[in-house]
Amino acid sequence: METIGHLINGELREDTARTQDVYNPSTGAVQKQVALAGRATVEEAIAAAEAAFPDWRDTPPVRRARIMFRFKALLEAHADEINQLVGLEHGKIGHDAGGELQRGIENVEFACAIPELLKGEYSRNVGPGIDSWSEFQPLGVVAGITPFNFPVMVPLWMYPAALACGNTFVLKPSERDSSSTMRVAQLAQEAGLPPGVLNVVNGDREAVDTLLHDPRVQAVSFVGSTPIAEYIYASASANGKRCQALGGAKNHAIVMPDADLDNAVNQLLGAAFGSSGERCMALPVAVAVGEDTANRLVDKLGAAMQPLKTGPWSDSSNDFGPLITKAHQEKVRGYINSAEADGATVVVDGRNTVVPGHENGFYVGATLIDHVTPDMQSYQEEIFGPVLQVVRVNSMQEGMDLIDAHEYGNGTCIFTRDGEAARYFTDHIKVGMVGVNIPLPVPVAYHSFGGWKRSLFGDLSAYGPDSVRFYTRRKTITQRWPSAGVREGVSFAFPS
Ligand code: NAD
Repeated sequence: METIGHLINGELREDTARTQDVYNPSTGAVQKQVALAGRATVEEAIAAAEAAFPDWRDTPPVRRARIMFRFKALLEAHADEINQLVGLEHGKIGHDAGGELQRGIENVEFACAIPELLKGEYSRNVGPGIDSWSEFQPLGVVAGITPFNFPVMVPLWMYPAALACGNTFVLKPSERDSSSTMRVAQLAQEAGLPPGVLNVVNGDREAVDTLLHDPRVQAVSFVGSTPIAEYIYASASANGKRCQALGGAKNHAIVMPDADLDNAVNQLLGAAFGSSGERCMALPVAVAVGEDTANRLVDKLGAAMQPLKTGPWSDSSNDFGPLITKAHQEKVRGYINSAEADGATVVVDGRNTVVPGHENGFYVGATLIDHVTPDMQSYQEEIFGPVLQVVRVNSMQEGMDLIDAHEYGNGTCIFTRDGEAARYFTDHIKVGMVGVNIPLPVPVAYHSFGGWKRSLFGDLSAYGPDSVRFYTRRKTITQRWPSAGVREGVSFAFPS
């Protein structure tokens, strides 16, 4: 059986010392093994990145950008192959995998603009004959640690920008589905990256801890669940590294009485059940304002959910595929059980969904739960499955208070026809990414992505303009060149 190895110093590396099963979630069968790097292997990758740094940082940004242009073209040319690898190991249906790749490519396109983005700031004559400028220099070796749910896109949030800024990189992808991540990294290599500039090590906590403790690693970008994000942020910071750690979510949509309900229902289906709800920007909570709104919303959702189809990744007529593991399938079913036990009403029940011919796949069907209240465990915690819960409130303010009180603050949305209500909502809600009649307000690649509260530890968001700040350090130079013949003499007074 094939074992997914590592990419170190430009070469694929086999490693079978310690491995873990990789499943095909659509069938439930083990299809590969993945190597779990030990400390020495990770240290080798860090050493390769460190050795590659001096030449790479001195490579003109426009040449680094040209590699990104070639990388983009290669990603487009290999789209089918990449989407298939995502489907086989993650379970994402083809159209969804295609969307993930497209969003990833847009981050490569952003990195193509690096000569413009690194231009810096310049002031002439800050004093007589004195000029001053700030430039943005690369940090050195940067590490990225990524989750299973976007094995192509989330790594592309990180290393195209980091490399374009002149850093070298060690990526530790999720151990559950890293074949596509590896293939994409090989294409980056093929695009012209010198050996050691981009390295990928597969692994688990041992690999992560090595990256967190090695003094050669200057900065860490993390995306994953909140408990691990908090651990990564605390450890990296304690070790003097710059860190951004993006965590979990529980995104709410407020549905106002004046909303176009058919549009809201249509949008909510994609946002709640797309990719089986395994998205940090999924929308698992609808907050209906008023009993009448709630009753109409639940009726329409229940009817609209009937034709939804779950099944294997390879059948593009399916709306969404399986969950990532059997353990996760059981966890999601457990949340539905707990909501029911706590007194909520399961309106559409996906717990016993069986896909003929794929009986051992990790499926949970689309589920709708009404009369959910904030004290329930299913409301408080991130489920990360195809489960939409409805909470009933009496006013928009009550809905906003609910959202503000939640520990997570990644994304949110309001469905309304009232511009004043929408403006009040976007002005005041304590959430990082906000949609108006758009339930998945994922910023485009030339903005930045980040939640508030316990959805992001660190000051800077992922990708876009913030990534250029995160992956560089400012240096400010103040310079005087005495002009020949007009030199006035040296002053030792403190400059004023
Ligand atoms: P996870 O936290 O289990 O794993 C993320 C990464 O951390 C993986 O590379 C994993 O190997 C590593 N890891 C896991 N346990 C570790 C430990 N004890 N010590 C050190 N490293 C460890 O997350 P996941 O299940 O792969 O992904 C789903 C989660 O990611 C969800 O909570 C989701 O909301 C979140 N997510 C957030 C965003 C965002 O932008 N905020 C985006 C995508 C996913």
